[in-house]
Amino acid sequence: MRNEAQISYTSGASTVQLLGRTIGEVLDDVTARFGDREALVETFTGRRWTFTQLHREAEKLAIGLQQLGIRAGDRVGIWSPNGAEWVFTQYATAMLGAILVNVNPAYRTHELDYVVKQSGMSLLVSAERFRSSDYRAMVEEIGFADVLYIGSAQWGELMAAADDQPFRGPDVPLGFDDPINIQYTSGTTGFPKGATLTHHNIVNNGFFVGEGISYTEADRVCLPVPLYHCFGMVMGILGAHTHGAAIVLPAPVFEAAATLEAVQAERCTSLYGVPTMFIAELALDSFSTFDLSSLRTGIMAGSTCPVEVMERVIAEMHMTEVAICYGMTETSPVSTMTSATDDIAARTQTIGRVMPHLEVKIVDQDGHVVPVGEPGELCTRGYSVMLGYWDDAEKTAEVIDAARWMHTGDIARMDANSRLEIIGRLKDMVIRGGENIYPREIEEFLYRHPNIADVQVIGVPDDKYGEELMAWVIMRAGAAPLSVDDIREFAAGKLTHFKVPRYVHVVESFPMTVTGKIRKVEMREQAIAMLAGI
Ligand code: AMP
Repeated sequence: MRNEAQISYTSGASTVQLLGRTIGEVLDDVTARFGDREALVETFTGRRWTFTQLHREAEKLAIGLQQLGIRAGDRVGIWSPNGAEWVFTQYATAMLGAILVNVNPAYRTHELDYVVKQSGMSLLVSAERFRSSDYRAMVEEIGFADVLYIGSAQWGELMAAADDQPFRGPDVPLGFDDPINIQYTSGTTGFPKGATLTHHNIVNNGFFVGEGISYTEADRVCLPVPLYHCFGMVMGILGAHTHGAAIVLPAPVFEAAATLEAVQAERCTSLYGVPTMFIAELALDSFSTFDLSSLRTGIMAGSTCPVEVMERVIAEMHMTEVAICYGMTETSPVSTMTSATDDIAARTQTIGRVMPHLEVKIVDQDGHVVPVGEPGELCTRGYSVMLGYWDDAEKTAEVIDAARWMHTGDIARMDANSRLEIIGRLKDMVIRGGENIYPREIEEFLYRHPNIADVQVIGVPDDKYGEELMAWVIMRAGAAPLSVDDIREFAAGKLTHFKVPRYVHVVESFPMTVTGKIRKVEMREQAIAMLAGI
């Protein structure tokens, strides 16, 4: 598909129609078609459900929630690590038309209190505790009383009472354009904003992600990514279930060995992960002992997917059809993905092409579409764009323009074949003495140094140039720390002088979010404190 106009605009043509269904209707359909097939497995407890059984558990919980007074449009929070009850809650709320509010299990009282109030939450479905997280104590600390604890006596009673009752449906007719999910997202910066998504947004995004990696009812998807994030609940749960495929949950939170054990034991055909998860799996001492031959495909997404990691996943994990997806919570999430029929370079070095029925364009600072090959901000339009941020018209207007384009804040480039590449984030862009510098370019360059295991580049304030570059470097095991002079020597003649970092900081690890994103804001704060101390 050549881009004849040579401008950075593309739309996803497809002969497959969008689904005009609510999430509940999708589960009804798939249960009618594949009722006896497995839908959900928890390898860490051994529990498993067919579609018929999962459908019934969701109905029972929906009946229970109705008894607690939940109606269409009410906000119901879910605060728990991964587990089957998370999935029951996702479907039960969708059947009622209640809006599921995903609460990050890593949140603590301050953030919990904020999202409970900001969303106007009627009920919180919560884990009681997990490892060092005492969820019950935190809920009590903020004084929120309307809570249903997973696995509690109350939970058991509600489910038992619903056992012989038919589900009578929601209190009002539901439409697929109704909001059904609020996903709080702060990316790596700022206070959480509640991206509000409809049935139509996430049913279709899940469905077309599943189409993109050719799911059928024979697929079994190993899901180590968190369910509270769209990677888990949309690309995972809805992506698989819209095709009758099964979901295998290997652990409540990511564990590399448990993930590969689950793939082996359940003969999974697909495995998801952010790049750091695949890196951790490949680095296991026991890696070669796992039988991963059942794997066919999977998805790597969430942040830049290093070429070397993609190559190893294809060669050593049998994931010959693995795809890279790119997107963000506000766009349900996926906007572009690679295809198994692309050549290896396109599959490892780009984020692929625009998804069916969506549009992508790259614009300059004035909002003009740039020529092919030039960097600019990636914008997405179409069925996937959120309704807006919950109860925040002002923040919504900052990111969605009058023509309904979502401005992602990601800097990308499009080639003549309409393939895209992410270069960095607008917010990460460093301006040094008037030159725009994309840290990603310098990171890719330094990554080639034989003693560097990983590297991140940030901008730090500078009196003379406005900003200067600082590289944070993780050394390979046994390698001596690199100095600024070493870096300068390595870059000599290869990088423009202003792209050579002025400061080098050797660390053991980078500050990171649960979803595998490097917290550059935190790095910058630490760097500023460090420089002030010099
Ligand atoms: P979130 O809303 O948490 O899913 O974060 C979305 C952000 O993650 C995007 O705006 C990108 O900056 C980043 N991201 C997601 N997928 C990719 C990818 N495949 N390559 C590079 N960055 C990505």
